[in-house]
Amino acid sequence: MKNEALEEEYIFKKLNEFKSKDLNYSSGRILGSMCSEPHPLSKKVFMDFLDSNMGDPGLFKGTKAIEDEVIKIMASFLSLDKPHGNIVTGGSEANIMAMRSARNLYMERNNLKNQWNEPFEVILPKSAHFSFKKASDILGIKLIEINLNDEYKMDIKSVKEKINKNTIAIVGVAGTTELGMIDPIEELSQIAIDKNIYLHVDAAFGGFSIPFLKDIGYDIPNFDFSNEGISSITIDPHKMGLTIIPTGCIIYREKKYLDLISVDSPYLTVKKQATIVGTRSGASSAATWAMLKYMGKEGYSQLANSCMINTNFLADALLKEGFSLITKPQLNILGFNHPKIDMNDLVKAIEEKSWRVSTSSYPKAIRIVVMPHIKNTHLREFMRDLREIKNDFNI
Ligand SMILES: *Cc1c(COP(=O)(O)O)cnc(C)c1O
Repeated sequence: MKNEALEEEYIFKKLNEFKSKDLNYSSGRILGSMCSEPHPLSKKVFMDFLDSNMGDPGLFKGTKAIEDEVIKIMASFLSLDKPHGNIVTGGSEANIMAMRSARNLYMERNNLKNQWNEPFEVILPKSAHFSFKKASDILGIKLIEINLNDEYKMDIKSVKEKINKNTIAIVGVAGTTELGMIDPIEELSQIAIDKNIYLHVDAAFGGFSIPFLKDIGYDIPNFDFSNEGISSITIDPHKMGLTIIPTGCIIYREKKYLDLISVDSPYLTVKKQATIVGTRSGASSAATWAMLKYMGKEGYSQLANSCMINTNFLADALLKEGFSLITKPQLNILGFNHPKIDMNDLVKAIEEKSWRVSTSSYPKAIRIVVMPHIKNTHLREFMRDLREIKNDFNI
């Protein structure tokens, strides 16, 4: 391949040609994404910290202190005073770390030396994120999927039935990817205590809204570290936190869980490393720190509340137009269908009107994530288009 040096101006021209093919959040047309436009402040701060490498924190002690503080602030939202953990690339990396900790804890407790011939099992809801499939493949653990009850939450009775001597962990989800439902975490915590099993809560999506909604009076079940059985929680600032991609976070109750997955890192300034990724940017931590300070608890409460108000507006509007909701939304995610229009036909018609929606796999439905870039005016336009679509289908 010929790759001659080019003028900067030409490079930008070319890059902008590529970029012009991207969708942008501000159009309000992206209705099926769990990400949103990062706040301008987080973009600015991110640029300021691009040089930092949290893989070698001895060289960037200031930025490392930011990472620690970010974890401390986020853990305080989750009722934990002395957290341990890392800012990572996203919810997937955080979940893989948690599963690695759980597996290694089980091996230590049972004095196992070789991880490749053991029948490790993780109990998780059918609604769990696909990152656990990656964890399963990488770590050699079997996923035991639990059916959902009629509220699309993990069925507790089946959890109890599936626990056996090979169970290394239970996973509950606080804000499922497809429908935003919150599993019965308090009950899972009690089971984890009774059976002495590692419990991980995946709050990648819900972690940045549930605590703030609870704060302003929403009736949402408790999913945080005040449940003593929880060992770790995943929470993603790059979803409802308004920070840049890549930013996820794993928070552990005890340092031991990090130690269990730390390997020697001889050529670096710190001699142990737990994250999956080696060289990793501290800019994610700095951008998140800035957003946490800028928004405060009040700012995040307002943000989560306005997304809920828009979600409920959309839910009501859909019902009025004869669409059916899969379930009453618990967070700012909503699944719907029309009883007389095939889902795939409906998706096609919606996309032809230049909206981008996603679909859920269980149950099959059109899935809308009402993120901060979606305003009430966009939802009204969307409803207008749905009425036209119904007309086109002669309904
Ligand atoms: C988005 C999401 C993940 C994965 O997070 P990434 O940042 O995409 O890696 C994991 N779990 C849940 C519940 C999610 O919604």
